Amino acid sequence: MLNVRTLALGAAVATALALVGCSKQPGPANVDDARLLAAASDNANWMTTGRTFDEQRFSPLAKVNAGNVKELGLAWSHDFDAVARGQEATPIVVDGVMYVSTAWSKVFALDAKTGKLLWGYDPQVPGETGIDACCDVVNRGVAVYQGKVYVGALDGRLIALNAADGKVVWEQRTFEKGERRTLTHAPRIVKGLVIMGNTGAEYGVRGYVSAYDAATGAQKWRFFTVPGNPAAGPDGAASDEAMKIAAPTWGGEFWKYGGGGTVWNGIAFDPALNLLYFGTGNGTPWNYQQRNGGEQGKDNLFIDSILAVDVDTGAYKWHFQTTPGDEWDYDATNHLILADLKVGGADRKVIMQASKNGFFYVLDRATGEFISGKNFVPVAWTTGLDEKGRPAIPDEARYSVTGKPFNGTPGPGGGNSWHPMSFNPATGLVYISALETGFGFVPKTDDKQSKYTFNIGFDFAKGSLPQVPEIKAGARAGTKGFLLAWDPVNQKEAWRVQHDHPWHGGTLTTAGNLVFQGTPFGEFVAYSADKGEKLWSHSAQTGIMAGAISYEVDGEQFIAVLSGYGGALPMAAGEVVVDRKSKTNVPRMLVYSLGGKATLPQDMAVELPLNPPPATASAAVVEKGFNLYHPYCTNCHGDGAVSASFIPDLRRSPTLASAEEWENIVLKGTRNARGMVNHSEELTRDDVEAIRAYVIKRAHDALAEQKTATGTGGAG
Ligand code: CA
Repeated sequence: MLNVRTLALGAAVATALALVGCSKQPGPANVDDARLLAAASDNANWMTTGRTFDEQRFSPLAKVNAGNVKELGLAWSHDFDAVARGQEATPIVVDGVMYVSTAWSKVFALDAKTGKLLWGYDPQVPGETGIDACCDVVNRGVAVYQGKVYVGALDGRLIALNAADGKVVWEQRTFEKGERRTLTHAPRIVKGLVIMGNTGAEYGVRGYVSAYDAATGAQKWRFFTVPGNPAAGPDGAASDEAMKIAAPTWGGEFWKYGGGGTVWNGIAFDPALNLLYFGTGNGTPWNYQQRNGGEQGKDNLFIDSILAVDVDTGAYKWHFQTTPGDEWDYDATNHLILADLKVGGADRKVIMQASKNGFFYVLDRATGEFISGKNFVPVAWTTGLDEKGRPAIPDEARYSVTGKPFNGTPGPGGGNSWHPMSFNPATGLVYISALETGFGFVPKTDDKQSKYTFNIGFDFAKGSLPQVPEIKAGARAGTKGFLLAWDPVNQKEAWRVQHDHPWHGGTLTTAGNLVFQGTPFGEFVAYSADKGEKLWSHSAQTGIMAGAISYEVDGEQFIAVLSGYGGALPMAAGEVVVDRKSKTNVPRMLVYSLGGKATLPQDMAVELPLNPPPATASAAVVEKGFNLYHPYCTNCHGDGAVSASFIPDLRRSPTLASAEEWENIVLKGTRNARGMVNHSEELTRDDVEAIRAYVIKRAHDALAEQKTATGTGGAG
């Protein structure tokens, strides 16, 4: 069934390419360097995750526009068999075929016009890999090149598939088994090199990004982002010269903690300058004092930085650090966009980022020179930037130095996170999925490391959202999201659409004067790009986080977005976001066209009832459970045992009533395959029973709240 379609496509591609004269080989994913360089004018296709090397996520298509978008309807949808976890992938469309990844790094090829499944590939990532995924078992997309589809599998394998049938061509490990890293970002392919970083700065790893031969998988160069143990000497890597700049900016025995600075999301390329750009993550641990052995005044290069390297060799060209000496999880890994702007009357080649630390940065991308920076959300960690973009940091923000809690804004969720932004050359505006979050940073006094939890020098129990109604209400009110249209030349807001709730989707903008964004409630919305007027929406049942794309097949324009809710904030934030998501979670490709008449399957939303066993444990046992739950369980099951993602809400778990089944899961690994691994090396039977007692108490708290709210006073 596949081959007929493939052959037909191949013929169409061959004809099209003969016309533009840029390739000899017909066939699926027939993308080469010439096509990638000309991607901006290849209006029908979306060949790389950001559509073009400059990653603007702008579609020049305008058949769907502000005047007729109200006629947009569902053209087709496809439900993936993936387990309902967070879906963050941007699909790719080449010559009528869509390639997309889902949670657990699965890859699918679909007919982009009809939605017919052409093939699916499951890398069979071991479930226990989930424990090393800080922010859900997500995948942000694939790359295509010369007849192959490339995916970074969560467990560290970079995999090249035959685009015609999804069969594996080669696999290459990008880190050793046992290292607490994962692959989540879309590979980028530049000049025959596959660029791949990894995650893990919450677990104690040393960041790097590598380039692999797209044909064979052989490693061509590696750039470490932070120094290693000086006693081990140079790495023999592309970053050796750069590490001479970085090493003096670290204190203590930093290498014991890994250092962090992982490259897990934002990557861009300028062909004229031959420069590859990438952002780096936070230092490991977050806690500055622990990381630097108490030495003061250390910037810790190149954490939280935007770097430029020669793409052929990986040789260092420049860096800009957003948050020197960071201790607030302000990764500089957010989406990077390249654009040519007129700033102060001069033509500037810029690189832009709406960073997790709340600032919108505009840098000269040839030199790294700071052009401007302005906060786009409230910020509490700095009093402002100097003329070189360096932040002034007040003493009270240095919580690990003072030893006192600090209410940081933004929180670790960032002013924006991985959710892609988009730039529209016609309006000159950047569209940002913005977040307002506060967070209580509380330093941990010991540096005990765990193989099951974040190792960031943060006290999860003390930093837990206090279960006090007024504090809870304040935290909830202070956690918001908005769609922000930002003028990068004048560094000011053009318009915003205020959302009550946080963690909305990434954005797409088009030449039809449109911006598209999904919501946690499962609404997919079109706004006018110049004014932010809501023009159209579709009820998609499931929360949407991913960025949308637009493409054309046989002269018809389509808008596509992947639905599915999860990720870092919904997993960990508990009460703050629990009632602000859709009830359903279906991993589903949604594709729209003018006059589309398709309908979605019936919504099967169900929520398990609260049905806890009697609360019989002593207050001391519940307290012990609270202190264990927060470091070990929060990051997946949610603060205060309240799950706002689609990882089970333990208060509603049927296993809550069975000490034996509970223990089998936590200490015998009966759910390893789903990512809930055996914790027996660090937790005892008494520990696990105390955690169960705490969750039972929290279930009764929730029942009591329900009764107060409904005034029934009846049994639950
Ligand atoms: Ca981080």
